[in-house]
Amino acid sequence: MKYALVTGGSRGIGRAVCIKLAGMGYPVIINYVNNTAEAEKTLQLVQQAGQTGEILKFDVSNGQETREALEAWEKSHPGDYIEVLVNNAGIRRDNVMAFMPEEEWNNVLDITLKGFYYVTQPLLQPMLAHKSGRIINMASVSGLKGTLGQTNYSAAKGGIIAATKALAQEVARKNVTVNAVAPGYILTDMVEGLDEAKLKKTIPANRFGTPGEVAALVGFLVSSEAAYITGNVISINGGLYT
Ligand code: NAP
Repeated sequence: MKYALVTGGSRGIGRAVCIKLAGMGYPVIINYVNNTAEAEKTLQLVQQAGQTGEILKFDVSNGQETREALEAWEKSHPGDYIEVLVNNAGIRRDNVMAFMPEEEWNNVLDITLKGFYYVTQPLLQPMLAHKSGRIINMASVSGLKGTLGQTNYSAAKGGIIAATKALAQEVARKNVTVNAVAPGYILTDMVEGLDEAKLKKTIPANRFGTPGEVAALVGFLVSSEAAYITGNVISINGGLYT
């Protein structure tokens, strides 16, 4: 069986991606770190989409925890492998750099960049061996243009974009594609507390996007029709940045 793993699948964009991939026929592994009730809700939605799902709790920024969880999954699924990996887990801890404690810098970079390494590195070998894989990294408009008050987040997302481009070149011959998706403002818990009425005036489409719209793009990049797209960053932002 070929599985899809979505990190941060309990809420927001990750949940919508889980439902999309289930609809495409993938059994889905839903990763999360804290919110068990929301992860269980995602599992129900995956099942309603007609697929099996599994919840796998681990903190992507913790190397040992991630390794143990993925090893345990492999042991309990002999002959199966994870063909689709969506590195979606992320947080923001906004602050101007002049007042940013080291913890806010580290937390954001660790979840995005160490998380990318800890999850992707062990899953690559099986994808290469099967000569089939899809890796989608959730970046952001901030990783492309930089956003004031988000030096940590912009650095993390810029880093994941560069890692996407490098890894894509390493694995393209084995039919493993690696792409990044760069959303603008998307209606999830992450944008809670932002002034939507004011911010949407800066967006040509005059609205925030929905998790379903991002999931549709991820679904396309996972599909066989996207086999020749790799090493790219696809923006989805209502025209906010081009
Ligand atoms: P969200 O609603 O806040 O959900 C974040 C998800 O990440 C949750 O499932 C959370 O799990 C999980 N997570 C956080 N830290 C984790 C860790 N250490 N290990 C494993 N999972 C962890 O966020 P979202 O808006 O859907 O964002 C998803 C991705 O899109 C992020 O990478 C974000 O940077 C990116 N993005 C979002 C926007 C936007 O406007 N929303 C724009 C651009 C990019 P728990 O439920 O257990 O906490």
